[in-house]
Amino acid sequence: MIKVLKFGGTSVGSAENMRKVANIIRREGSTLTVLSAMSGTTDALVKICALAKQGQQKGVPSIVEGLVQKYTTCIDGLLTGERRQAAMDRMNEVFERIHREAQQYGPGASDKVIQAQGELLTSFIFNQYLSEEGERSALLNAPEFMLSGADGKVDQAQLKAILGAQTQAPDTYYITQGFICTNDKGQLDNLGRGGSDYSAALMGVAIGADEVQIWTDIDGMHNNDPRYVEKTYPIRHMTFDDAAELAYFGAKILHPSTIQPCKEHGIPVRLKNTMDPEAPGTLITNEGDDSLFSAVAAKDNITVIRIHSLRMLMAYGFLRKVFEIFEEHRTSIDMITTSEVSVSLTIDNDEHLEAIVAELKKLGTIEIERDNSIICIVGDLDHQKAGLVWRISGSLNTIPVKMISYGASHRSMVMLIATENKIKALQDINHGLFNL
Ligand code: ASP
Ligand code: MG
Repeated sequence: MIKVLKFGGTSVGSAENMRKVANIIRREGSTLTVLSAMSGTTDALVKICALAKQGQQKGVPSIVEGLVQKYTTCIDGLLTGERRQAAMDRMNEVFERIHREAQQYGPGASDKVIQAQGELLTSFIFNQYLSEEGERSALLNAPEFMLSGADGKVDQAQLKAILGAQTQAPDTYYITQGFICTNDKGQLDNLGRGGSDYSAALMGVAIGADEVQIWTDIDGMHNNDPRYVEKTYPIRHMTFDDAAELAYFGAKILHPSTIQPCKEHGIPVRLKNTMDPEAPGTLITNEGDDSLFSAVAAKDNITVIRIHSLRMLMAYGFLRKVFEIFEEHRTSIDMITTSEVSVSLTIDNDEHLEAIVAELKKLGTIEIERDNSIICIVGDLDHQKAGLVWRISGSLNTIPVKMISYGASHRSMVMLIATENKIKALQDINHGLFNL
């Protein structure tokens, strides 16, 4: 069985955890292991980029110092002799590169080089550790086969050809980096924050994996957000569509882009817990949970745009004009509700909001509201069933709901509320819908 196992930052966040990871890949028989950077690394590297951008290079050494300590402790906890020396040399090389890039900072390109170093160093150390343990392993350099085009998409044909050729030896643990790639200008680049899950999915497709496993520090996708709600439970089995929806609408365990390539190729995705490998976790396939209410997730930083226009009354083509404006500014819309004379839309990226509003003003009066959250409820929400809306809104009867969207799918209902009410909403839903 060909398996791709991806481990997140906490899973590789210390020497002790890396030992756990090594045990897991042995036990599972991982073909290709995709690693994130040790926890906290990418955040620190992003901070370095921000300092360099503001010309405050003076602040860089103290952040680097923190990382050097973390990595040195990890290396000392895992390696001895020559392998320890090799890892220390690699670490020094990495941090020199970071210093250099910060000194000669060029926006964009330097950011990408700096942010790639965490995955590069973490995977190097882990591979050394496997050799130290007497395992046959090989470190692969992801930027050689993760090649993205002008549209930012990874070239799947090249990935298949190059990675396929590099993973032919039998009984070898192949180790590589998530997150990073080479862009169409030949520069180091990345797939966006949290992108290692997506790397694993694409690599899984490329090598014809039978399963992609995403290992984190929680025992699978939960019915509700454990950060805000006391009693939650993992969902054993979930469909690709439900998982994609929950990931998109805020379930932090999985990067939302991960699901599509796996669904397309029918590759099961398993979410597992490095800290509790015996726990069953969540299996994502074409079959899922058949509870009436399966799970809820929430996504913050949502901005609502309301367009009010009498010109919409009995007119056609109005929505097209609205959508064109968003398309022009490459801004995707999450929710939409309409009445005869107004439209409400939500976006999660307000980078181009000003320009969008300037153009929308030609169509009608515009109202903007920030600091909202989308609550997404997933379940067997069949359109033929009576009382569903009542159950959901009943469980939220003390919270003002600003928008409701239901009917597009049989599986989900999305609602918009003020972010200040989010935690209470999730708790009330836990009571009202999950009887917890
Ligand atoms: N290290 C990267 C991040 O923190 C990618 C990842 O972990 O998926 O965003
Ligand atoms: Mg992640």
